[in-house]
Amino acid sequence: MFQRLVSHNDDIRRLVEKGYAVAFDSNYLIIRDVPYLDNGRRLQTGAIVAKLVFVDKDNVIQDDHQIFFAGSVPHGLDGNPIPNLGGGVTVLALGENCADVVVQRSFSNKPRTATGQFPDFYEKIESYVGIISGPAMELHSANPYTFNAAKDVVSNWERFVSRHAEWLLSRIANFARTPSSPVSLYGRAEYLCHRESARSLVESRLAVFAPVLEVSYGRVSIRAQKTCWGSCSRSGNLNFNYKILFLPAHLQDYVIVHELAHLRELSHSARFWAVVGSVLPSWRSLRRELRGKGML
Ligand SMILES: [Zn+2]
Repeated sequence: MFQRLVSHNDDIRRLVEKGYAVAFDSNYLIIRDVPYLDNGRRLQTGAIVAKLVFVDKDNVIQDDHQIFFAGSVPHGLDGNPIPNLGGGVTVLALGENCADVVVQRSFSNKPRTATGQFPDFYEKIESYVGIISGPAMELHSANPYTFNAAKDVVSNWERFVSRHAEWLLSRIANFARTPSSPVSLYGRAEYLCHRESARSLVESRLAVFAPVLEVSYGRVSIRAQKTCWGSCSRSGNLNFNYKILFLPAHLQDYVIVHELAHLRELSHSARFWAVVGSVLPSWRSLRRELRGKGML
């Protein structure tokens, strides 16, 4: 359902590309990870739910200008409930994939257009996020662009667990045995165990992006650096951290494109970022997200 709706509906595809955590539940579009302020101006995360009306098996339109919201009452910077949201207390039953989304209220903020309707889901979500998340974005520098679209969450998690089940279990056992000692999660053994799968992942993505950037590269090394995801030498050899395996696919691609772009421009100049941006227009938020992953 995810692929089908995203590929047939431009407005929904734009939401995914912008980084919204898009999911679907039968007749509803769900946007998770929506930040807002509670009555103590603390940062909370809710979900927006909007009804989908199927015009055929692939295409959807809106029902009306309203949305549902899973969360408490969003407040403004002044500590008061955000005015003009309208609506009221509503309960809505969603399927088990969305059991975490507990709808508590509806909002009804009519757009000031001739029709009183939003042109599409993109405009609708953007408008409500502006109202609901605006204060949280300002006070806590939060944003709803988590790139946790449902497809990614499932496939990455499944892939990670199936590839690394044994390793995960051994780490858990290890932690249980030595609860107070600082165990390095990524020791030499783990590195050796993952180096070849990291190499094949890196090589397959390099093969995709190198022709796009019109560059060619030298030797590719997989390393276990402590402080960086990748690097590019003056002679055009590329190094990648084996932990790239554990990143979500869109961040793996960012690391790959970043290093390939260094083959065109060695420093992080404006020209460099323009090269990155020619392939990944959302590089700014990708870079921010990758920073959030830290480096062990
Ligand atoms: Zn760089």
